[in-house]
Amino acid sequence: MSAESSPPPPQSTSQSLIDSGIAAEKAGETAASGRTAGGGRPHLLGLTRIELADRAVEWGFARVHAASLWNELYLQGRRAPSEFRPHDRMPARFLERVFSECDFDFPGVSRETHSADGFTRKYLLGLRDAHRIETVLMRYSGRTTACVSSQVGCAMGCVFCATGQMGYTRHLTAAEIVAQALHVDRVLRATSESDPQVGGAAPALAEPDHPSPHHRHERLRNIVFMGMGEPLHNYDAVMQAIDILRDSAGLALGAQKISVSTVGVVPGIRRLAAEKRPVYLAVSLHGATQEERAALVPAARKWKLDELMDACREYTATLGRRIFFEWTLIEGKNDGPEHAHAVGALLKDIPAQVNLIPLNPTFGYDGKPTRPAGARGFQDVLATYGIPCTVRQRRGIDIAAGCGQLAVAG
Ligand code: SF4
Repeated sequence: MSAESSPPPPQSTSQSLIDSGIAAEKAGETAASGRTAGGGRPHLLGLTRIELADRAVEWGFARVHAASLWNELYLQGRRAPSEFRPHDRMPARFLERVFSECDFDFPGVSRETHSADGFTRKYLLGLRDAHRIETVLMRYSGRTTACVSSQVGCAMGCVFCATGQMGYTRHLTAAEIVAQALHVDRVLRATSESDPQVGGAAPALAEPDHPSPHHRHERLRNIVFMGMGEPLHNYDAVMQAIDILRDSAGLALGAQKISVSTVGVVPGIRRLAAEKRPVYLAVSLHGATQEERAALVPAARKWKLDELMDACREYTATLGRRIFFEWTLIEGKNDGPEHAHAVGALLKDIPAQVNLIPLNPTFGYDGKPTRPAGARGFQDVLATYGIPCTVRQRRGIDIAAGCGQLAVAG
């Protein structure tokens, strides 16, 4: 864990923390989608392509001007107003209006760390209000993936999670989420095969002869909302960001390329189903009885296991899509055959895949990861229920970039 990732003293992981985070949201402290953290001017990165075009028309310009700007933002990778050069389809007057009406900046990179195997990079990003978040780039299994944060801290308080140990500070805006993805995309584009830190160890993913620029250059292909924060607690901003990242004229991330992870925020799961959102859903389970789950995941006291499973059934029935259930394996706590049988019984009527994650170390929790033989035993039990199950490779642990390890001090 890097010095700046050293977690602050553990804060309350009680129900009151969850309630206070949600109360803050209800009281309007949440930054509106597409707006700055202060709720002021819109941020360019928080607008969908249609919203941007509508604004262009409002200002007396043509939609094609907005289309050119969008192209330069998402395909040319412009990072500052000074990088936009006026031309026929993007006149100077239009650019002046855009930057007088909208904010446009990126979080600064305070620190970058690389895992020893070269497959993982972690970025500590500074936001405008001096809060900081972490974003992770993963390049393995033939995939390029950004693990993005959705909040500064987290109100859910999972006991083994460094972010949960920080407590909740605020939601990120859609723009702050999109900026993380664009940062990773830019890093990938700039990464050459001769880069000993990444290109030397990890496979090159670019396809020089492919007709699509997304394949010709090494580009971001996957996003997982598994960084700092509970994405479904910041639903509107996360979905706005996903709409922007999916746009076929931008990063064009497909439905199978975006995963949203939740600790079990039942209203959010029901809303995903009702809105038929084209994303994969990962639900962190960790306990297969109400009591065992609530001991690890305080949010389970608010959204009980029965209620959660009902919402999961509704999601799979409505969308015809399986759910990924995440299970952090903690030695002697939730990794015995009896736990595996309980998971099997709980999930037997739900289209599901279980991902087992041997516990990653954090300063605020003294549990130990299950050993490989124990993880295999757990997997074998689930196989008897016909439930597909994988054991996650432990990557990026040396830079505290693994599941549950993201945190910033201060
Ligand atoms: S595991 Fe996820 S939901 Fe739980 S405290 Fe950490 S960031 Fe929040």
